[in-house]
Amino acid sequence: MKKLDFFPSPYPDECYYSILCRYHVQCGNEYPAETIYELFGNSQNQTSTIFVPRRMELVDIWLLDIAETMKESIINNHTMYPYMSTHYPEVLVDAIEQIRRGIECGASVDLKYVQKARRLWSSHLRFCSQCMHEDKKKYGESYWHRIYQLPEIERCPKHGGWIQNTDIPIRMTRIRFFPASSYYEASQIQTREHALGKYVVQYELIASSTEWLLENGLESKEAWLTRRITDIWEEKGRRISLTDIRQEMSIKSNTYRKYGEMIDALIKQLNSENQ
Ligand SMILES: [Zn+2]
Repeated sequence: MKKLDFFPSPYPDECYYSILCRYHVQCGNEYPAETIYELFGNSQNQTSTIFVPRRMELVDIWLLDIAETMKESIINNHTMYPYMSTHYPEVLVDAIEQIRRGIECGASVDLKYVQKARRLWSSHLRFCSQCMHEDKKKYGESYWHRIYQLPEIERCPKHGGWIQNTDIPIRMTRIRFFPASSYYEASQIQTREHALGKYVVQYELIASSTEWLLENGLESKEAWLTRRITDIWEEKGRRISLTDIRQEMSIKSNTYRKYGEMIDALIKQLNSENQ
């Protein structure tokens, strides 16, 4: 692996895999294996890069001066990490924090990310045709958006249209690059009635909450606890106790040891507003 001569600037909500696809096209290699070897030094499954930040330590080698910024951007804006971190085990959250600080997390942790990503695989690469057309117009090329690759996302939060499957099976992305621009001509706005039509409102809600999580899922533990406990207090509409909190959400004993004082103070403060 070596310093790269260039690296594509990521587009808004572009998934990491899509950035790598554009790199493959621009670097001029004939075979995907060449690009994968050049970037990663071995053959590895590229599908997981649709979802999780992998081998981030290599960004330091590829990009030198801008590595730090790019790493941060890939983790936060171009993988599902903010969405997944809300229910990741602490060991993986801690590993990402180490990666951010330039500490290598090791092959076993990297493998755990791949396993986590496996649960999110949908059957095909997916897209919103209106987004695709807009991107082409705005940036001169289209790209794979991160949000549409998540399961349960059936509506575009921006255009309100149905998300469509490409005919590219997701398992094919393991060892190949499929840049969205090569798919652009085939993408058409779907006008026929959708099989999920009667659930449109529910799918719109899922899409907008997922979009929110992708943008804001990285809140701190304190912010997360404050939000959850305030929600419980609002739902109950009365004074609450630690028992109420324990019934509604599982707080690990470790967490309570660390944040107990803050939790008690918050309960007290909320209850004083309810008097
Ligand atoms: Zn759209």
